[in-house]
Amino acid sequence: MTIYDWLVIGGGITGAALAYELQAQGNKVLLLEPNSNLNNATRYSYGGLPFWATSPETKELCAEGMSIHRQLPEILDCDTEFQEINLLLTIKKNESPEKILKQYQSCEIPPQLLSVAESCELEPLLNPSAIAGAIYFPHGHINPVKTNEAYLKTFTRLGGTMIHESVNSFQFHQETVVGAKTDQNTYRADKTVVCAGGLTRRLLKQSSVTVPVYFTHAELLETPPLDLKLNTLIMPAHDQRLRLEAKATALEQESLWDQPEEDLGSAVIDPGAIQFRDGHLCIGQISRTLTDPNSKVDATASEAWLREEIGTLLPALKDVPAQWHSCLIAFSPNRESTIGKLEEYDGIYVFSGFTSPLLLAPPLARRFARSVS
Ligand SMILES: Cc1cc2nc3c(=O)[nH]c(=O)nc-3n(C[C@H](O)[C@H](O)[C@H](O)COP(=O)(O)OP(=O)(O)OC[C@H]3O[C@@H](n4cnc5c(N)ncnc54)[C@H](O)[C@@H]3O)c2cc1C
Repeated sequence: MTIYDWLVIGGGITGAALAYELQAQGNKVLLLEPNSNLNNATRYSYGGLPFWATSPETKELCAEGMSIHRQLPEILDCDTEFQEINLLLTIKKNESPEKILKQYQSCEIPPQLLSVAESCELEPLLNPSAIAGAIYFPHGHINPVKTNEAYLKTFTRLGGTMIHESVNSFQFHQETVVGAKTDQNTYRADKTVVCAGGLTRRLLKQSSVTVPVYFTHAELLETPPLDLKLNTLIMPAHDQRLRLEAKATALEQESLWDQPEEDLGSAVIDPGAIQFRDGHLCIGQISRTLTDPNSKVDATASEAWLREEIGTLLPALKDVPAQWHSCLIAFSPNRESTIGKLEEYDGIYVFSGFTSPLLLAPPLARRFARSVS
């Protein structure tokens, strides 16, 4: 039986970047990912790279992330559609621009408060009567699917092995994880790293390991390529998704995450939108803290809510043809990283749940691979 140096579980942006970096360091790497066509959080992401750094501590890492993204088209031999784009964080009519601005004061690039007229000049599709202004940041942007696929392709080109199977348990030798089992096979590796996104928590829980990686259920609309032109990346300026995550992971809620069918807070909606180079758009994001990863939501009601909210802000998008999708997004409390070796067992690591993964997975994966190789 082949014994790999590293087994990477999950082929989203975190697993793909890490598998590539570990392989590039000369390790013999196996990546297990059930789907041959991406159907994960990375697939539905807006592709935004917030290099303006939300805190001084992340300044260096953000700069490193942007530097790697600039080089990725050459490294991965693929057009990742990297570009700089204007980000508008819209402020609702009934919100106070000055109060909202304060939330961004610790950012490394100073936020710029725009009037309604200035906002609409940058983004003519905005409804001027729906906003009190917007906060402007320069932002990076990639096509997340192309980037994820390019990482996977380059990983296999370097000699890495990718198999489309789903891990259902770990293989132990005493207190050490020595591989993983799927329905079809058992795989052996000196070290295993879990990059299973929103399913990271459940997978580890099956081995009685609890990690501070949680997940939201996210819902959005994706359009086919359209003729209309959205110039900017639009997101709301308020922080209600962060507040939902904080509420759902407060100490008194912790035990509920291991109960089936709990709903740990009211759903929130972020009326945002981004257009990709081929003209297709991703619209909106509803976030729910349902503890069952397999919970079903009412797609019709969800789509109606998304269309109503986006229709108020960007009326031209209200009735565009679009497909409703949902996925799980991993997160950690206080936007901290969950990266490193598990305390419970030897041979097993987690690389999941960190903030701004599209910007930060490439530099964090590189640092991780260099530190363990
Ligand atoms: C609408 C929307 C907009 C977003 N916008 C942004 C943005 O602008 N910028 C940004 O940085 N982030 C954004 N995000 C968040 C970002 O997309 C995700 O956080 C990120 O893609 C997660 O990557 P991941 O690798 O952790 O998870 P995923 O992409 O979900 O990948 C996890 C993979 O693990 C696999 N897996 C799960 N269980 C197993 C198992 N048992 N065995 C083997 N494999 C397994 C899954 O099949 C999956 O492919 C957005 C998300 C959404 C939904």
